[in-house]
Amino acid sequence: MDLRHSEQDEQFRAEFRAWLDANLPQEMREPAFWADLTDDEAFEARRSWEAGKARAGFAGIQWPTEYGGRGGTPTMKAIYDEEMALANAPATVNALGLAFLGPTVMALGTEQQKKSIIAPLLNCETIWCQGFSEPGAGSDLAALQMRAEPQGEDYLLNGQKIWTTNAMHGDRIFVLARTSPPDGGKRHAGISMLLVDMHQSGVEARPLKQMTGESEFGEVFFTDATCPNSEVLGGEGNGWATAMLLLSYERGASAIAQYTEYHRQWEQVVAIARELDRDGRPASADPVLRQQLAGALVELECLKYHSWHVLTATAQGKDLGYEASMTKIMWSETFRRVSDAYEAVLGTAFQVPGLSTGRSLRELTALAMWSRSCTIWGGSQQVQRNVVAERVLGLPR
Ligand SMILES: Cc1cc2nc3c(=O)[nH]c(=O)nc-3n(C[C@H](O)[C@H](O)[C@H](O)COP(=O)(O)OP(=O)(O)OC[C@H]3O[C@@H](n4cnc5c(N)ncnc54)[C@H](O)[C@@H]3O)c2cc1C
Repeated sequence: MDLRHSEQDEQFRAEFRAWLDANLPQEMREPAFWADLTDDEAFEARRSWEAGKARAGFAGIQWPTEYGGRGGTPTMKAIYDEEMALANAPATVNALGLAFLGPTVMALGTEQQKKSIIAPLLNCETIWCQGFSEPGAGSDLAALQMRAEPQGEDYLLNGQKIWTTNAMHGDRIFVLARTSPPDGGKRHAGISMLLVDMHQSGVEARPLKQMTGESEFGEVFFTDATCPNSEVLGGEGNGWATAMLLLSYERGASAIAQYTEYHRQWEQVVAIARELDRDGRPASADPVLRQQLAGALVELECLKYHSWHVLTATAQGKDLGYEASMTKIMWSETFRRVSDAYEAVLGTAFQVPGLSTGRSLRELTALAMWSRSCTIWGGSQQVQRNVVAERVLGLPR
């Protein structure tokens, strides 16, 4: 087995690394820079940097050039993710659009949708939100209540979405709504995915404060909001199939970037454990903590090999289908494991971010808190395990 990348891929890596060296200011790589900005300032700084990166040709690595992408391979995309993580570059402001909506539009969108959606998404002119979850519909998504009634050339939308990432910064939102009542017992029928403008009087976003103190998600209320009927993705009534395809992208991308990021987090935790006193000796000498740190490292290495496996499969043009759930389970649980080790090393100070000394601890504490959400969004761990059991392993319900 040859685990090296091709010469062409390595050339791309060198080119992108050189661009990052020249265009990613040192301060943006430091947690302190971001900690001193408000939510809005940080968002705008990331948005503007990311737009510049897109203008330089480093966006939509795998997407066709005719829509503004770079026309690269899955391996180039993985290298791009890895280099972004190694450089500690700011995370994308358009994750929902880039990782989930974009590939779905490429697969199912009309030519007009591809042209109007992809380029503004890559340039961060349009920030996308995902409107799937509702107060009464999370894991059981087919229980959604939001209605979209045809009215002339538009749909009239009424209902509420919740846990909407980027709600306060969103320009457009892809929502699941009922365009017709369930067909008898078939709850998945009659649902459509609509691409809705958030800058209209019928759409109101309200922030929800999280345990990190940030409001990176919120609630979105629709009261007689409108959406042209040309803005259905995947066809009216096919929303369930469209959503399942979209969720497979949400769950299944290669986890090389996560591996790189969590490995750095793990190294920082080990460094802290070496410095921190625990009963008169370094915390790293505590056999229980050592065991926990070693366990996290083993999981990290498993994640790396799994990511290479996924990358090989996608580079060979294979469709991961429901196996995507295994990747989501692996990276989110590895992240939790590294964060749990951090929590164990730091002890009770972990629970009170204000008490943590120093800026790097603030970043690690925020990461550890964020890790808790990653086993929930995109489908909880329990639900992913059900998917793997039933759809991949073929076990009975
Ligand atoms: C940080 C964050 C960002 C998010 N961003 C978005 C977003 O942008 N857009 C969006 O639409 N949603 C978003 N979500 C919502 C997310 O998709 C839901 O929280 C998730 O699907 C779980 O739904 P729920 O919260 O309603 O929990 P519930 O579905 O009520 O589940 C509660 C518990 O029951 C378990 N459970 C439920 N059903 C089963 C079952 N069949 N078998 C076994 N166990 C089960 C679950 O695993 C969970 O532990 C986000 C969530 C978080 C935490």
